[in-house]
Amino acid sequence: MTEDVQTILVIEDEMDIADLVAYNLERVELRVLKAHDGQQGLEIALKERPDLIVLDLMLPTLNGLGVLKGLRRDARTQRIPVILLTARAQTEDRIQGLIAGADDYVTKPFSPKELVLRVQAILKRLQVTSSGTEFSAGGFTFDKNALKFYIDNDPIELTSTEFKLLLFLCERANHPQLRNDMLRNVWGYSDDVISRTLDTHMKRLRQKLGTHADRVETIRGVGYRFVSPET
Ligand code: CA
Repeated sequence: MTEDVQTILVIEDEMDIADLVAYNLERVELRVLKAHDGQQGLEIALKERPDLIVLDLMLPTLNGLGVLKGLRRDARTQRIPVILLTARAQTEDRIQGLIAGADDYVTKPFSPKELVLRVQAILKRLQVTSSGTEFSAGGFTFDKNALKFYIDNDPIELTSTEFKLLLFLCERANHPQLRNDMLRNVWGYSDDVISRTLDTHMKRLRQKLGTHADRVETIRGVGYRFVSPET
């Protein structure tokens, strides 16, 4: 079953933290690659295409946000989930990171156990997603294996977070979804920082939907609803 071993890339310049994270991930049978600066991290990510990346924000040569933007720009790494390691004071960077397409974050000092749980939650979510095949609602089609999205057969590029948000709404078409349920389903938990970025993600998602943007309704103070004419 060695081909099923999943690879995690840890980009962290503090060696003791990188080693601690690697040690804990290897204990749960994950393969770990390490990079100690941003530029090297981005290069390894493009070459090795890991299953998930743990990314420190404060890095030499290229900071974490720069790495994240680089990953999201390149088709080879666009969909790789990223967990940010951030300092408590870096609230604004954290928000920028989530807006730039990070999937989750942990705040330093963090418990390695918690980080491992977050990593496993994301990997599991991907497996659940890829166990289905295709889902369609009102002209919107989701290829859950490839994480590809189409409107009337035209492909639309979505980030993995946008894909999950839209799929969550479409699978529950015409039923209002609470913000907290969306946060928990897509990120695994809810908190203020993520809640603040939900609307940003939805705004960008609507821009990508173009003339179909009005299919996603905002329900003030409640959440969102996908309007499907079919059901
Ligand atoms: Ca650092």
